[in-house]
Amino acid sequence: MTARVLPVRFPPLPDELLSSWFVRLAHANGEKSHSLGFRIFRGECNFLRGGDQKLDRGHDVQALTLLAQATKTSLQRVKASTLGAYAGYLWDEISTRGVRRWVMPVLDRGGERTRHGLQACAECLRDDAAPYFRRSWRLALQVACPFHGRLLIDHCPECNAPLVMHRGDVGIFTPQPESSARWCSYCRADLAGAAASCEILDIDALDFQVLLLDTLRRGWINIAGRVIHSLLFFEGLRMLWAFLDAPAWSADFRRCLELQGFPLGEVPRKRYGGADVQRSEARCRLLAASGWLLADWPSRFLNIASEANVSSNRLLHFSLKGQVMTPFWLWEPVHMRLDRSMYVPSEQEIVNAFHYLVRVEGKTRHRDLCYLLNMRTNHSPRVAMVIDSLKSECSP
Ligand SMILES: [Zn+2]
Ligand SMILES: [Zn+2]
Repeated sequence: MTARVLPVRFPPLPDELLSSWFVRLAHANGEKSHSLGFRIFRGECNFLRGGDQKLDRGHDVQALTLLAQATKTSLQRVKASTLGAYAGYLWDEISTRGVRRWVMPVLDRGGERTRHGLQACAECLRDDAAPYFRRSWRLALQVACPFHGRLLIDHCPECNAPLVMHRGDVGIFTPQPESSARWCSYCRADLAGAAASCEILDIDALDFQVLLLDTLRRGWINIAGRVIHSLLFFEGLRMLWAFLDAPAWSADFRRCLELQGFPLGEVPRKRYGGADVQRSEARCRLLAASGWLLADWPSRFLNIASEANVSSNRLLHFSLKGQVMTPFWLWEPVHMRLDRSMYVPSEQEIVNAFHYLVRVEGKTRHRDLCYLLNMRTNHSPRVAMVIDSLKSECSP
């Protein structure tokens, strides 16, 4: 199956999201996005709806190939505009269904979008010759524009509707310039008008935002003199965000952070859905707090954890819950400094300690053995059992 070449065609703009490019292609050819989808993908016209944009995930190679043929663009370039291109940097591979770490969920019900899963920099939209949505604006780890330093918007400033590009041509016979990314699909308000009211990020938080985006681009980060693969770094950062964003687990830690000037605010939802579903203001606070903690890793983190009397079990709860291994850069300080679990010697260690005491002191007392094994108790049934069995072996 091959696709007919489009009369008007152009490649995606730098870091452009696939669905944004597709909508711009459709409008440049005088078509609605869904009719172009129907024509290229042979009947599959629901590719931009259905909970999450199927096309943006990038797992449908056949659809991407048809699009590459229709636009005379290399398949590699088309794939690079999908979220799937973050594989190996942000996750090992992208799932075809369900939630994906760091991707803000979008949800369509009855043709209406109900989740604020797409963000935009109002100033970028205003300055673009052809306004378009960036691929990284779908990620929860981006809360601000690295060029303009302002908080991203995730809703229309006029009607508060979620941002969506493919609905811009609904109800219009021929797509108009007002159908582009710059205009709200629901009330046609100019999104660029929100630029002046968008908060300017604190310089330290903005530096951390730039660092996160650089890490995603180059695939590694240097933390406390140790080079860490981006995949492992973002895995740990997400656990840290989940911990900070769950007051039931981190209330004292959050209070200590607030005293340092990093209030994390309220978590209004009754049911916790992860930091990925948080609105941009809440994620901005997480970004600032985690940036401050990581700027002097692990000292600040351990000081706050000690002050808040937080155990390793609480800190690593979110890795255990999700059955995900904690990356070493996060696990090491938590385990080495905050692990309060009782030391349990192996049977061989008890036997060796027993023989050592017999050799050095000529006798073995239960209490001395526990002390030698660095246990927190003077009496252990396990130690007693091993002593009894060894003594009975030694007795004639
Ligand atoms: Zn911008
Ligand atoms: Zn609106």
